[in-house]
Amino acid sequence: MNKKSHGKEHIISNRSEKLKTGKNQRSNRNQKTNNDRNESKVQDFISRKIYIPETISVADIAHKMSIKAAEVIMQLMKLGQMVTINQILDQETAMIVIEEFGHVAIPSKLDDPESFLDEQINFDKEKDSFHRAPVVTVMGHVDHGKTSLLDYIRRAKIAINEAGGITQHIGAYNVQTDNGSITFLDTPGHEAFTAMRARGAKATDIVVLVIAADDSVMLQTREAIHHAKAAEVPIVVAITKIDKIEANIEKIKQELLAEEVVSEEYGGDVSIIPVSAKTGEGIDNLLENILLQSEMLELKAPLSTNARGLVIESRLNRGRGPVATVLIKSGTLRLADIVLAGSSFGRVRAMLDEHGNSVQSVGPSIPVEIQGLNDVPVAGDELISLKDEKKAREIALFRQGKYRDVKLARQREANMQSMLEIMDDHSKYDSKILKLIIKTDVQGSQEALISSLTKLSTDQVRVQIIHAAVGGISENDINLAIASHAVIVGFNVRAEINTKKIVEVNNVDLRYYNIIYDVIDDIKSAMAGLLSPEKREEVIGLVEIREVYNIPKIGNVGGCMVLNGLVRRDSQVRLLRNNVVKWTGEIASLRRFKDDVKEVKSGFDCGIMLRGNIDVFSGDQLEIFAIKEVTRYL
Ligand code: GDP
Ligand code: MG
Repeated sequence: MNKKSHGKEHIISNRSEKLKTGKNQRSNRNQKTNNDRNESKVQDFISRKIYIPETISVADIAHKMSIKAAEVIMQLMKLGQMVTINQILDQETAMIVIEEFGHVAIPSKLDDPESFLDEQINFDKEKDSFHRAPVVTVMGHVDHGKTSLLDYIRRAKIAINEAGGITQHIGAYNVQTDNGSITFLDTPGHEAFTAMRARGAKATDIVVLVIAADDSVMLQTREAIHHAKAAEVPIVVAITKIDKIEANIEKIKQELLAEEVVSEEYGGDVSIIPVSAKTGEGIDNLLENILLQSEMLELKAPLSTNARGLVIESRLNRGRGPVATVLIKSGTLRLADIVLAGSSFGRVRAMLDEHGNSVQSVGPSIPVEIQGLNDVPVAGDELISLKDEKKAREIALFRQGKYRDVKLARQREANMQSMLEIMDDHSKYDSKILKLIIKTDVQGSQEALISSLTKLSTDQVRVQIIHAAVGGISENDINLAIASHAVIVGFNVRAEINTKKIVEVNNVDLRYYNIIYDVIDDIKSAMAGLLSPEKREEVIGLVEIREVYNIPKIGNVGGCMVLNGLVRRDSQVRLLRNNVVKWTGEIASLRRFKDDVKEVKSGFDCGIMLRGNIDVFSGDQLEIFAIKEVTRYL
């Protein structure tokens, strides 16, 4: 499993440990009350077996035990969890609560249509396996020659149709060599690899690490090495641009040694192949080594079973609807098959290969573009072909709902504890490294943060900044954080609005600051193992300014729409322009139509004036927040 899930388990198990401690004391008491009951009215209490699905609401738990929801809420409160009647709990928490009441909780998958898929998996395994082509991702520092290398291989190895040439480009292609075929994932290496891994998907069998012979091991080279190693994917190194006079292959090998990438000639197990995308020198040798490496991996997949694959790219095409590039991992996908991809489903209406040619069926390790899904799946989603369309629809709908519930179930206070857990988790790999991604409004604060934060490193804990840049927090930043278990520090910048979902679903530790000392203090206390500060800002809503009215003698009033959460008359506000913080302050007036109001909820429009009559423009956003006292419970 990927590292993220370790992290999650860690968080959850930590919580249940806390709950269990409560439980021990509690069950002693329970025993007592039970005894009391036994003496008075024996038949009153019957211990029952209660099946608990993966997520369950507080109300449903109460219903299953035939008690009032208030009793369940009280119980959870005693265990240190404040919940509402509609709150969704995860299975583990629900089981603990139920056992508190003296019942036997049984984890159930009964009402989970996905258990249907398990049967299909078992069915797969029984079939004979055949050799499949390795799937390769090319990574390396910018300008070191990744694209050129891929282009050369494509030109040299793909049989181009007479007239069309390479007409259509999809994010992957398969090349034939004398010794076998190889599939290259052609998406920008680093990002795609990380995004996939962040979603727990393993698309890549082998990483080709590109380093220019006239340059050095650079930041992204190192990152690529770390990512490949963390994912336990073997590396084949291509030292490119060896046609250049400045090329120094030996120097690169030495530098790689320092990164613990040891070539075979130095007694290691990594093939290091000098190549040139200009002259073509060494490229056959590189392909041969990739195949050699893949032989050792003994890559196999069944052919005749239903197809399983991985979405590597997806988009909405105006004419053709949702389009997804899928890498088949096992089985065979055929035209008109019913498929389920993440929470979307449909019948395969058309399949195109990397040249844009229609194909009837594809087998393992072959990329293909499919049409016919009802929705755009997410890169990293698993695709599976099913016999039963009704089942596919049911599972897709179930997943849509489930993802929402799970998101709620895992919602938690972002506290310093999570940072420590991340560090713990990392100690397995990197011996106590706190990984940070830093995004700032201006270059100056970026530099200041990098230098002051790296200086915090001690012998026991090292602060490692894996990425720093100016600008809003992008999806890519978030994927990197998920895959690498990094904490994101947003300094006067915010996450792009379309990232909200992955942040919440994956519990990304995303922190916003506007004072450098606050960042340093937070990181310092994380390193010292201290708990979070008592006061925290809590974002309660987001408002968009749709129009600006200039009212004489009064000032600028923003005609606003509350996008999510709510806005209160007494809340604090941050003015965001292109995800950069422009101003922080208070609301001077909040109105609906002509009336002053106390609060306006999501989905409604309102008029807002900021204190100090601050200039606003249409398109600006207001982040609404409150200062909240955070209770520490550990
Ligand atoms: P990428 O950013 O890693 O995709 O790098 P590119 O493939 O775009 O290459 C960056 C630059 O290096 C381009 O100007 C290429 O023409 C040049 N380049 C790439 N490979 C070679 C090579 O093998 N020999 C020489 N001489 N130049 C190369
Ligand atoms: Mg490139």
